[in-house]
Amino acid sequence: MSERKTALVISAHAADFVWRCGGAIALHQKRGYEVTVLCLSYGERGESARLWKEGKSLDEVKAIRKAEAENAAKALGVRDIRFLDLGDYPLDLGPAAQDQVVDIIREVQPAFMLSHSQYDPYNTDHMRTTEFVLTCRMIAQAWGHNPGQRVLGAPQLYLFEPHQTEQMGWKPDTFLDITDVWDQKRAAIECMEGQHHLWDFYTNVAENRGNHFRRNSGGMAGGRPAKYAEGFQSVFPRTVDEL
Ligand SMILES: [Zn+2]
Repeated sequence: MSERKTALVISAHAADFVWRCGGAIALHQKRGYEVTVLCLSYGERGESARLWKEGKSLDEVKAIRKAEAENAAKALGVRDIRFLDLGDYPLDLGPAAQDQVVDIIREVQPAFMLSHSQYDPYNTDHMRTTEFVLTCRMIAQAWGHNPGQRVLGAPQLYLFEPHQTEQMGWKPDTFLDITDVWDQKRAAIECMEGQHHLWDFYTNVAENRGNHFRRNSGGMAGGRPAKYAEGFQSVFPRTVDEL
């Protein structure tokens, strides 16, 4: 059996993966990867203001957010989306959650991983998720953790673009052309009924990153005509044979 190509997205709340790496998800699904999307919570308390203003109960808010995320995942071609329901504002990232996520990382054996920026003073759930993901990645690599399971190699962790990038100390070193799958990303964005105010904002971000893709792929001397792109910051060095 040939090796499956896999990737793992770890999203603090149910919608984060859509705005920040929906294009990367759709593109890799299209290229034969199986992308697993793991939502640590539904973002029920902190990222569902409109539903609370409408008088919904906690259980209703969670159910609506879950359905929205599942619809968005479907629009991106994802077949494997999972919800750990760890609560939000704040997330409960205790030892039980850690064991669960380490098991999932080892099961998926991702070629690369995606998560939040390392710093986010507006939303500590986001930055705590990244620290948690790095810890889980480290444990998944340890031969002494649950011996007998397949240990993890060294997948890159790409940090996807936060809201208000400058405040997060986030600096992209990779631009991905998502023009071919933009319609899918926009369709996924439009599944997020509770966050209408972000639809055009993230369309605009993708257009601006498309400009950066063009500039960095050659600019006026032959850059690729990407219309939409996503930016990522990688945590680990790349190992290469040629520069
Ligand atoms: Zn979030």
